[in-house]
Amino acid sequence: MNLNDAIQECWSKIDEGQVATYIPALAKVDPYQLGVYLFDVTNDKKAEAGASQVRFAIESVSKVITLLYAIERLGLSAVEEQVGTRQTGFPFDTILNMEITKETHPLNAFINSGAILISSLIEEQDGLSPFDQILEFSRKICNDPAITLNEEIYQSELRTGDMNRSLAYYLKAKEVLTNDVTLSLDTYFKQCSMMVTCQSLANLGAVLANDGIAPWNNERIISSEAATYTKSVMMTTGLYNESGTYSVRIGVPTKSGVGGGLVSASPNHYGIGIFSPALDHAGNSVAGLALLELISKKLKLDVFRY
Ligand code: GLU
Repeated sequence: MNLNDAIQECWSKIDEGQVATYIPALAKVDPYQLGVYLFDVTNDKKAEAGASQVRFAIESVSKVITLLYAIERLGLSAVEEQVGTRQTGFPFDTILNMEITKETHPLNAFINSGAILISSLIEEQDGLSPFDQILEFSRKICNDPAITLNEEIYQSELRTGDMNRSLAYYLKAKEVLTNDVTLSLDTYFKQCSMMVTCQSLANLGAVLANDGIAPWNNERIISSEAATYTKSVMMTTGLYNESGTYSVRIGVPTKSGVGGGLVSASPNHYGIGIFSPALDHAGNSVAGLALLELISKKLKLDVFRY
């Protein structure tokens, strides 16, 4: 398929969305950008178009990376004891779902409370802070040594992060988050402020699509079990409150972030990275999801259909 034509076809969708404004540094991003990088893991072929090499804030897509890293460090059952795999029916930063449902742990790893809890599980090792380990692991699994923390976005996250602080302190009060709460929050704010490209996310997707093995050097980066678990969680809770809608429409495990990034893993076929910063009401990239839907249809990627 011609990716430039696909971008043209989806371009007008940008006008239906808006860049995230609740984090001021993200509000400055030019909405008129759309890029894609496809990594065909079966044939070891790559294709890209549009803003595929533009760096943007990873935001919630980082939750995929920290989940994988926590599973690698602690084992899947330890992680499963901390977070569920259920949809919430509430926005990603809701503080209420544990109150309402009387759950003892966050309902899934991709809502902010679950993600902060996952980040809190990563402890200092060999003199490396939790964030330094996440950064190192991100560079490895995204095959992108140029991933760095964007100081302006990090400062902006710190200034506007009171909802996340309240979630973390709620978890602490409930004795669910038992490590240092300030450090856990700092790790979370920093992981959201890492700068990636469509190519970095396509590489991450390719490792997941390829059962945990990096297709660029055949090194196993994560266990098959971690790859399968994470793809399932992406499919069911990766797109905020619209996860069910897009599972039906696109049928490819995907995680979005409010920076406008999307990572998709089409099992045994493709890793896909997409970027377009204008978001819909739920926080997903509008043009990005339109492009992903088009690609999924053209390449027959829907896991339920083919
Ligand atoms: N840093 C953002 C927050 O915690 C990430 C949100 C997102 O991408 O879903 O609110």
